[in-house]
Amino acid sequence: MRLLFLFLCLIPSLHADKLLDLYKLQGKQSGPTLLVFGGIHGDEPGGYLAASILAKHYSIQSGNLWVVPNTNKESILHYHRGVNGDLNRKFSAISHHDPDAETIKEIKELILHPEANLILNLHDGHGFFREKYQNTIFNPGAWGQTCVIDQLKLDNNNSYDDLDCIAQKVSQTLNEHLLQDHHSFNVRNTQTKKKKNEMQYSLTYFAISNDKPAFAIETSKELKETVQKAFYQLRAIEAFMQIMGIRYQRDFELNSENIKSITKSNGVLTINDNISLDLDNLRKNLRYIPLQSIKNDLCFSHPLGGVKEGNGFIELYIGHKKISHLSTTPFPLEKCEGLFEATVDGERKSIDLPSEVNIMSDIVFHAPEGYRLNVIGFTDPRYKNELEIKITASSLLKRFSLDREERKFRAEFYKQDAFCGMVVLNYVARKNQ
Ligand SMILES: [Zn+2]
Repeated sequence: MRLLFLFLCLIPSLHADKLLDLYKLQGKQSGPTLLVFGGIHGDEPGGYLAASILAKHYSIQSGNLWVVPNTNKESILHYHRGVNGDLNRKFSAISHHDPDAETIKEIKELILHPEANLILNLHDGHGFFREKYQNTIFNPGAWGQTCVIDQLKLDNNNSYDDLDCIAQKVSQTLNEHLLQDHHSFNVRNTQTKKKKNEMQYSLTYFAISNDKPAFAIETSKELKETVQKAFYQLRAIEAFMQIMGIRYQRDFELNSENIKSITKSNGVLTINDNISLDLDNLRKNLRYIPLQSIKNDLCFSHPLGGVKEGNGFIELYIGHKKISHLSTTPFPLEKCEGLFEATVDGERKSIDLPSEVNIMSDIVFHAPEGYRLNVIGFTDPRYKNELEIKITASSLLKRFSLDREERKFRAEFYKQDAFCGMVVLNYVARKNQ
C-alpha cells in the first residue's frame, strides 16, 4: 500500500516536533492557567466538541487557558474509546513500545508545566450519578453529570487544594441552568488512593500525585444530543475559570442552539499551501485531487480535523464525522511564480494561489508564459489549456463541482507536469440561472 505520508499542520503555539495540538489562549493581564484535555476517550464527543469550541470561540482577558482538544486523535477518528487500549489507564506505567507512549509523555509534560495551575479532563460517562441506587441509569456507579475528584483535598497549600469545595461550587453553578431537571450535577469522589481502584492509572490521579489540582468533568452519554453535553462541559469550564479568576469572552451566547450552529461549520482545509477547500457542502467524493506522491501538508482550520489515508485516496474528517473521500493523483509540485490575473465579470484583478473567486457571470484567466490552466468540468474539446478563455457556469459540467450546491469549480494551474496551485471558482449567482 502506497501511503501519502500526510503531515497535519502545526498550531503556532506548538513546538514542531509535538504530537499534541495545544492551543494557548493568553490574557493581556497575567494570572493563573487552566489546562483542559478533550477527547482522551475517542467515543466521548461532548468533551472534544467542547474543547474545540474553547480553542476557537473563546478569548482570554486575564490569566491563561490552554486547551488540547483532541488528546486521543486516532481514537477520535475511529470513534473508539482507545484504539491502542484505554489512554486514561496508562499514567502510572507505560511500556516504551506502547503506541501511546509519546502521547502520555507529552500529556505529563503539560500537566507538570510550572504554569499549569489546574487541570481538567473532559469525558462523557454512562448514566446519571446518584448517591442512592434508583435503577440502572440513576445510581452511585454512574459517571454521567459529575465533577469527579480523586480525594477531598491536596495537602500542599496550593491555591486550589480544596478539591471537594471547588467541585461542589462547580456543580452548584451547573445546577442553576439545567436543560432538564434530571440533568443535575453531583460531585463523585473516587477515593482513588484509599480504594486503590483503577483510577490510580488515570490522568487526574497522576496530576494530583504531583500536587496539581485536577478534576474530570463527566457529562452523561444518556443526553440525547452531543451539543447538550458540550453545553454542560463549557458551563463547567467557565465555572472553573470564574473560581480561578480567569476572565474570558466568547463570540456567541452559550446555549445549545448556538453550539449546534457552530458545529455545522467544518472550516477550511489547506493542502501544501496551494489548495484551499471550504469543507462545508463539499461533495462526499472528489476525484483527481493533485497531491504529491509523498510528504503532503494538510492544515485544517477546525481543531478536530483529521485524515485517514490509503492507496490513492485520503478521507477527511472533523472529529469522527467523515467529510469527504478524495481520490488523489500524484503530481510534483512547483511554485507558481509571476503575475497571475483574471478578468472577473469584466474587471481585471490579480489572483492569489490558492484562493476562491466569486463570479457573477464569467472569468478569464491570464498567466505568465509556461503555465497551463485546467478547469475541471470544462469540456470544450477545442482547448487543451483554458487560459484566456471565457468560462461561464454553463460551460461547466455540474457533476464536476466541488460542492453539493454545484456552484464551486476547480481551476488548476500547471507548469509542464508539475501542479502549482488551485483557484476555486464560485459562481455565486448560479442558483438563479
Ligand atoms: Zn471517558
